[in-house]
Amino acid sequence: MSGVWPDGKRCAVVLTFDCDAEYVFMGNKPEVADMPRMKSLGEYEWNAPVYPRLLDLLDKHRVKATFFVPGINAVNHPDVFAEIRKRGHELACHGWKHEDTIKLPKEEETRRVLATRDAIKEASGYAAVGNRVAGGEVGSNTHDILAENGFLYDSSMRGSDLPYRLGNGLTIVPSYYDMDDFHLFADYPGTSYNTRIQSPETGYQIWTNSFDGYYHYGLCYTTMFHPQIIGKPGGLMLLDRLLNYIERFPAVWHATAEEVAKHWVKK
Ligand SMILES: [Zn+2]
Repeated sequence: MSGVWPDGKRCAVVLTFDCDAEYVFMGNKPEVADMPRMKSLGEYEWNAPVYPRLLDLLDKHRVKATFFVPGINAVNHPDVFAEIRKRGHELACHGWKHEDTIKLPKEEETRRVLATRDAIKEASGYAAVGNRVAGGEVGSNTHDILAENGFLYDSSMRGSDLPYRLGNGLTIVPSYYDMDDFHLFADYPGTSYNTRIQSPETGYQIWTNSFDGYYHYGLCYTTMFHPQIIGKPGGLMLLDRLLNYIERFPAVWHATAEEVAKHWVKK
């Protein structure tokens, strides 16, 4: 497959980070608010200099990324998201509290999506055009809500290895479980992430081998990383190695999910 990317590029690389922090637990389990140790696993994302280190690493490699943000985190940590935007990255919606919205009526689901977009705008000045569902399934109204409210794309689906369009006009920028750091490295006690911590070599092998395939077939390589995992000191070393590996290949299009979606609409 060739010819789908701009300027003769061979494949797209979309680095995305889901900024879940403590709401990765609390979104569906409010009782975690009274579990200081578990909560601190997520608060690490704010208390350690995760974002300064991550943003400096992205600058070093001259790549722009997409950060998916639960609305409540934009309210509580506006400076973090203002800085991410200032450094040229994209911000997108990722639930209000990283909660499952599958059972919500359409009006309430709409209200939360718009509140999240407003919170991101308030923090950063940027009006998000993308969304990734957090903490549960994609609902029967979710994609219509996004299309009806001016969103360009959703990145919750796994249904292809290239972007695709829905009947309502929304573009899907697919994301993949094999590109999710949680599944490899989040051995959190008492959670449903059924993993033992893997060697960084395993992550390097999976992610570089995946890149080889996406590059060979000319596809859309989308990571689904989490600052609380990949932003650990060793995780950043692994990300640095991964980006060094990708840089050996010519004609790679480093793009945000928004840039990919915009390209796909006019393609
Ligand atoms: Zn998430």
